[in-house]
Amino acid sequence: MMNWLDSHCHINDKAFKDDLESVLENMVTNDVTKAMIISSYIEDFYYALNIEHEKIAFKRSLGIYPGDVNDVDEELFERFAKLYEDERCIAIGEIGLDYYWVKDNKERQKEIFERQLALAVELDKPIIVHSREAIQDTYDLIKKYPVKGVMHCYSDSAEMAKEFVKLGFYISIAGPVTWKKAKEPLRVIENVALDRLLIETDCPYLTPAPLRGRRNEPAYVVYTGQKICEHLCLDEEDFKKQLNENYHRLFGL
Ligand SMILES: [Zn+2]
Repeated sequence: MMNWLDSHCHINDKAFKDDLESVLENMVTNDVTKAMIISSYIEDFYYALNIEHEKIAFKRSLGIYPGDVNDVDEELFERFAKLYEDERCIAIGEIGLDYYWVKDNKERQKEIFERQLALAVELDKPIIVHSREAIQDTYDLIKKYPVKGVMHCYSDSAEMAKEFVKLGFYISIAGPVTWKKAKEPLRVIENVALDRLLIETDCPYLTPAPLRGRRNEPAYVVYTGQKICEHLCLDEEDFKKQLNENYHRLFGL
């Protein structure tokens, strides 16, 4: 049997500080044996390096989150840039643009995003992109750089997803595809080639049905994976195999 994987989780978040061991055991029980741990802060990255389990292959990424750019001075930017060179930092992210939470610093967000795009090209590392209510600007900036990566927790149109795929990007699907009112996420999975799809939890947020309302955790990625299989009439083992191939290809593993 193939394993499941979670291409984007925040188990280094304080939401898991009291029961991380049992969260990892739940992963093993549910065959979720690969996961990318995302850090938006340097101390979280160092903490993530210490999260290990003999039956789970963890990888880690670091990036300046768009919602934090107002707090990033030159000195801090350089500290991030230095860590991007670390071989334990597999990808740069999550980086991108977020006009939902903060609208009055778009230029600053673009500047920090672009500087990180340039570093990704220079270091030849994939990026993990966060984009909220900013898809066109995100696309326009990415298009300027010969970079590969994944649109994390993709929540925009199927048409736009296809444009990102044309740029060589992967589309990662999170819990919302399982929710009752999901329409566009289903169109997205119908329209993106299987060799460009990934799945994730983005835990502790975005818990899939039927557990919506609780804290999310990597083991629940199975609900998202099964929903996609059900909707596209895929064999679960085939889909898991495809996900593993995509994950390895994207992150150079
Ligand atoms: Zn995230």
